[in-house]
Amino acid sequence: MPGDFWLRATDAFVPVTFFVFGCIVGSFLNVCIHRMPLDQSLLRPPSHCPKCQSPIPWRLNIPLLAWLWLKGRCANCRAPIPWRYPMVELLTGLLFAAAWLRMGSAAQLTPAAFLAAAVLCVFLAGLITATFIDLDHYIIPDRITYGGMAAGLAASLVSSRLLSLDSVMPLAPASALARSALGCVVGGAMVYAVVRVGKWLFGRQTYTLEPGERLLFAESALRFADGEMPYEDIFYRESDAVTLHASRVELLDRCYTDVDVRLTMTRLTIGSESFRPEEVPHLEVETREVIVPREAMGLGDVKFMAAIGAFLGWQATVFSLMASALLGALVGVTLMAIQRGEYTGRMPYGPFIAVAAALWVFGGHALWRWWFESMRAPF
Ligand SMILES: [Zn+2]
Repeated sequence: MPGDFWLRATDAFVPVTFFVFGCIVGSFLNVCIHRMPLDQSLLRPPSHCPKCQSPIPWRLNIPLLAWLWLKGRCANCRAPIPWRYPMVELLTGLLFAAAWLRMGSAAQLTPAAFLAAAVLCVFLAGLITATFIDLDHYIIPDRITYGGMAAGLAASLVSSRLLSLDSVMPLAPASALARSALGCVVGGAMVYAVVRVGKWLFGRQTYTLEPGERLLFAESALRFADGEMPYEDIFYRESDAVTLHASRVELLDRCYTDVDVRLTMTRLTIGSESFRPEEVPHLEVETREVIVPREAMGLGDVKFMAAIGAFLGWQATVFSLMASALLGALVGVTLMAIQRGEYTGRMPYGPFIAVAAALWVFGGHALWRWWFESMRAPF
């Protein structure tokens, strides 16, 4: 049926447009993921090969297709381009299409549906960026978390659909803004409480280092070869201490071998010597493991959950916290099984929160409602 075909073609037109647009946005998210943690400008310089610095012309910068065409290598120096680049583009495209299918439909091509889908796209783009930066660097930049809180509050005035997934009836602007603000506060406060109570209950974690890997005590963070741990996530109380046995310790003007090191907020002890931390501008150690008083989550996750609450409301933050803990446990147990119980590596928590928050929009919300309705139902 030709008529049928055209009807289907128009049905597919909007989601496909969202997909293509998502792939283009995903290409920009790759830039954000790479440059944001390094505090570089997102716009300048334009895309270039990280290996040979040669600029990438627009026709070789087409999302997905360029990577396939170049078989995953730089056109100039043939350096491999990580498969993560096209994967982020594809993921963003798919999620944007899903955002439209969740918020609008072919029968409902209204401005309100487009606005709701646009807000959801912004939210999902933030989740993707936070996830991949956290995987690489174990941090979620303030630009994303504080930016996300501001964007969430502002978005509640543009479209309130994400804050009231039950109904298509828009909320009054004041009540949408209030829900958004409440979500922000509840989300942040709840994760903050978990971080503090968790540290108090479980205290410390042991991290194993690769042979030859060095640990650098930088100005504001403990730096591993593959990422860093901000001091603000480590030192809350006088008694919080980072301890390790070093095969070698290097200060600016001297070095020690085979010695115990202990660092608190106010005291650095190396063997039998003791310093004030601010007197030691450079401290680098070689060690096999380090004990850090730290929860699985940190302050970055507190701010991240606050931003999620600003977009989705407080119920979503409760759901995301529970679902992320479940996901984290599942992945942890799986990794331990694969590595026969030897898995002691670090795992960022942000990606689990991000996946859980996305699950809320695409079904978790319905699950939540069903749960509470069945609780309330008389037996
Ligand atoms: Zn190159």
